[in-house]
Amino acid sequence: MRIARDLPTLRHALDDLGPVALVPTMGALHPGHLSLLAAARREVGEAGTLVASIFVNPLQFGPGEDFSRYPRQEEADLDRLREAGCDLAWLPGVEAMYPPDRATTIQVEGPAEGWEGAARPGHFRGVATVCAKLFLQTGARVAAFGEKDWQQLQVIRRMVRDLDLPVRILPCPTLREADGLAMSSRNRYLDPEARSRAAALPGAMRAAIEAMARGTSPAAALATARAGLAAAGLALDYLALVEPESLCEVEAPPGRLIAAARLGAVRLLDNMPA
Ligand code: AMP
Repeated sequence: MRIARDLPTLRHALDDLGPVALVPTMGALHPGHLSLLAAARREVGEAGTLVASIFVNPLQFGPGEDFSRYPRQEEADLDRLREAGCDLAWLPGVEAMYPPDRATTIQVEGPAEGWEGAARPGHFRGVATVCAKLFLQTGARVAAFGEKDWQQLQVIRRMVRDLDLPVRILPCPTLREADGLAMSSRNRYLDPEARSRAAALPGAMRAAIEAMARGTSPAAALATARAGLAAAGLALDYLALVEPESLCEVEAPPGRLIAAARLGAVRLLDNMPA
């Protein structure tokens, strides 16, 4: 596996390699990330080039968010990437990604506006900007994204469509722990007691979806879920049934049930088809 930390090295490394499938990450890799690598490899085959980027993107963190304490474990991540058959690890420094006098960012409207966009102003501007740069830097034909971050996936798809970026976005299903909690690099910050309560989020979501399928009104099903989550000690930011691509709220299924809840210092995100 080659490693590039600056653009000239990246370009040189890509010169003699086949079509690129990219998996953008912020590191602290877990099996969810590895499933994206496997899906990306299937898309380009052995003749293609599997590139993983690890970049904790300062532009997508707001003031007071966890940029400085976001987990960083480069050596362990590189071992995982090697084991996963990654051809090239792209580990840009902040200075390689953002010239100090940069003047350009990408602002997506529509699906980027509510939910995470409202809770974290500027977040999706940072995500869209870094993803556009990663696509252009690597010349990726395919880029894999997790459904775990549903709104992010829709924002990236919309950006790619609107800007005619020559990359195909490959959505990948959410990998979960045995109790249903969606895997996330931030889960390590849950203390054992909080960790044991965290699965209440997917549990309440699943129960609400099943109740709606049995004919319970969406309003009643979501109210029951909200009460259950409060009882489990989760501070809900939002729980909403939305149209899957626009993220606009809908009255009744079919749609996507999306949720964010705070548990101690950790913000849990989840979503499911409903
Ligand atoms: P992150 O490193 O958290 O920015 O995530 C990098 C990529 O991995 C994003 O496309 C995420 O949606 C995806 N991802 C994160 N957690 C999971 C998971 N549990 N299952 C599948 N994909 C995931």
